[in-house]
Amino acid sequence: MDKVLGTLNGMEFTIGDSLLELSYLIAALLFVYGLKLLSHPASARRGNLWAAGGMGLAMITTLFLHKDTAGQGIPSLNMWVIIAFIAFGAVIGLIIARKVKMTAMPQLVSLFNASGGAASMLVALLEYPSAAAGDVGSILVTVLGLIIGSIAFSGSVIAYGKLDGKVGSIIKPFMTYLNLLLLLVTIAFGAFIVASSTSPAHMVWAIYTLMAISIVYGITFVMPIGGADMPVVISLLNALTGVAAAMAGFIYSNQAMILGGILVGAAGMILTMLMCKAMNRSLINVIIGAFGSAGAAGAKHEQGTVKEIQLSDAAVLLSYSQKVVIIPGYGLAVAQAQHIVHELDMLLEDKGVEVKYAIHPVAGRMPGHMNVLLAEADVPYEQLIEMDAINPDMPNVDVAIVVGANDVVNPAAHDDPSSPIHGMPIIDAHLAKNIIIMKRGMGKGYAGIENALFFNDKASMLFGDAKSSIQKLVNEIKSM
Ligand code: NDP
Repeated sequence: MDKVLGTLNGMEFTIGDSLLELSYLIAALLFVYGLKLLSHPASARRGNLWAAGGMGLAMITTLFLHKDTAGQGIPSLNMWVIIAFIAFGAVIGLIIARKVKMTAMPQLVSLFNASGGAASMLVALLEYPSAAAGDVGSILVTVLGLIIGSIAFSGSVIAYGKLDGKVGSIIKPFMTYLNLLLLLVTIAFGAFIVASSTSPAHMVWAIYTLMAISIVYGITFVMPIGGADMPVVISLLNALTGVAAAMAGFIYSNQAMILGGILVGAAGMILTMLMCKAMNRSLINVIIGAFGSAGAAGAKHEQGTVKEIQLSDAAVLLSYSQKVVIIPGYGLAVAQAQHIVHELDMLLEDKGVEVKYAIHPVAGRMPGHMNVLLAEADVPYEQLIEMDAINPDMPNVDVAIVVGANDVVNPAAHDDPSSPIHGMPIIDAHLAKNIIIMKRGMGKGYAGIENALFFNDKASMLFGDAKSSIQKLVNEIKSM
């Protein structure tokens, strides 16, 4: 197995080394294949398994075939310690993933991002003192890994707290200047460490200081992000975690880590750009953390009367419609109403009604949240229509049923310049001929602002938990 095949950069290259590199290549191909399958809900589960298989392969071959610069494999005691911790982490991960509720999935994703960032931060912290003096390249990637990993770590912890309702927003104009200052200090201090690359062993104090500043910046960068703008930040933090992992890969010259990190970073960055476009925001605002800082305070308080609709009237209205559009939002996830809403759509289609779902890119609490929920209930993908495609048809829709959605149908985004969500594209529910809104009460959405749609002349409220309201509606339609 360990037959020497030749030398590379003055080091012996054995069969084991070739197998290790080959396994990294296979792992990278599996990551790419997995990512491709993730692009469609029908194949996403398989995509996850293939990519996880690639990661498993890279981990196993690294454990058994990796050698240090002296040509020594991992000592057996270290091996057992590593295996024990991998097993411990895997068991914890399995328990959490099985127990977590679908509505808490975005929080879990934020915690995963935080762990990825923390891992890269620790790798950089530990490896910096042993970096070769004067090796600017490796010190640069170590410093970048430390900065990006620390920001991803602390930023994701704050994002977790915000999504879970445990952390509020600090919405003050000075935060913009503070963030800009902290970002500049972080970059300047990082540059200073790289410029002092001749004596890394004497700069350990500096690397700890850099870590502290970056952690503080991660916190202050996410703190002011309010209203409906969190999705952009979450996907940006995800991209940062990938880039930090790639930097850690450069530190160890590990191809699998570099490729895996770059793929996560690139996919996260593409998602961030798509989210920015969907929210009609610019990325530069996100980076200085001034985003959404108009806050709920800028929101106009709507006045007017709210109409309610009886179940029997709603059942008649829907049954005699030609076109119905269901607009799902976060409340659908809370109520777990995805299966019953599919039953409703099938019932209406049996009566000759055309039923479509209008999908807003930031509905729910994570990118693709509504697609995942509706796929779980086997709603055919052809029925899910993206916002830009469905909006032109909204004036022809007989009934728009808003199920637990609020911010994504708020017309203030169009017509109230003082609103924190002004400029964000919405699903034009207000253009439909009739609007039925299902929610428990007059509760606000994530952005914490009033919604004029509820006071619209064409709108009627069907108050109650979405699942039980739809169940009653289904029973009513069946009994007609
Ligand atoms: P919203 O958060 O705006 O509104 C959800 C509504 O659902 C609430 O007004 C609530 O009203 C209602 N609701 C809650 N529970 C139930 C229930 N059991 N049955 C019926 N209704 C219920 O949701 P949207 O999907 O419209 O908008 C998503 C928001 O989250 C946007 O502001 C987006 O920017 C933000 N966000 C999105 C992320 C993403 O990646 N998608 C990530 C982070 C934030 P009531 O209490 O009266 O029932």
